[in-house]
Amino acid sequence: MTKGFVIWLTGLSGSGKTTIARELETYLVNNSHRNVEILDGDVVRKNLSPDLGFSKEERDQHNHRVIWVSKILARNGVVVIVSLISPYREVRDYARSELSQDERSGFMEIFVKCSIETCIQRDPKGLYKRALAGEIKKMTGIDDPYQEPLNPELIVDTDNETVVESAQKIIEAAKSLGYLS
Ligand code: ADP
Repeated sequence: MTKGFVIWLTGLSGSGKTTIARELETYLVNNSHRNVEILDGDVVRKNLSPDLGFSKEERDQHNHRVIWVSKILARNGVVVIVSLISPYREVRDYARSELSQDERSGFMEIFVKCSIETCIQRDPKGLYKRALAGEIKKMTGIDDPYQEPLNPELIVDTDNETVVESAQKIIEAAKSLGYLS
């Protein structure tokens, strides 16, 4: 069976994770015979973690649930695109070790890099506006930490690249890692 793998997109809210995930999905559906699933932070939270909030412990627990689902999908050959702020390095490292230690799956961490200024300007969900007005707390990048990846497989810079350019860079990286032909 073809080896599945996880494309783990991490970055601030509004950095472009969901948009890039959709672009990747379209590319893979049209250009490969792979089964693709997107695990998007907001959707997954609603379905898997409606009980959890945004403290470090709850974010970690939420991320652990996503890792578990990714693992099951990837070991069955699926290309799993995870789109999750996942602000803590430790839990992303745990994802890497869980996915890499199983010979049936692979893992790539992609840092979707974008300045906080641009994210605030884009504000696709209106969350920054509410956080800056003090209406919501624990907003990553405002009053909650984001730990940048130290050794990701790839960095895409959405301040300076188009969505298509970022997606193509990810596809090329997946090919060089031997995950895609
Ligand atoms: P996230 O999933 O990281 O919270 P979204 O993908 O939901 O971010 O929102 C990013 C917003 O920024 C979208 O409205 C998207 O159209 C816009 N955008 C502008 N330029 C880019 C780019 N180069 N890459 C990704 N998104 C971009």
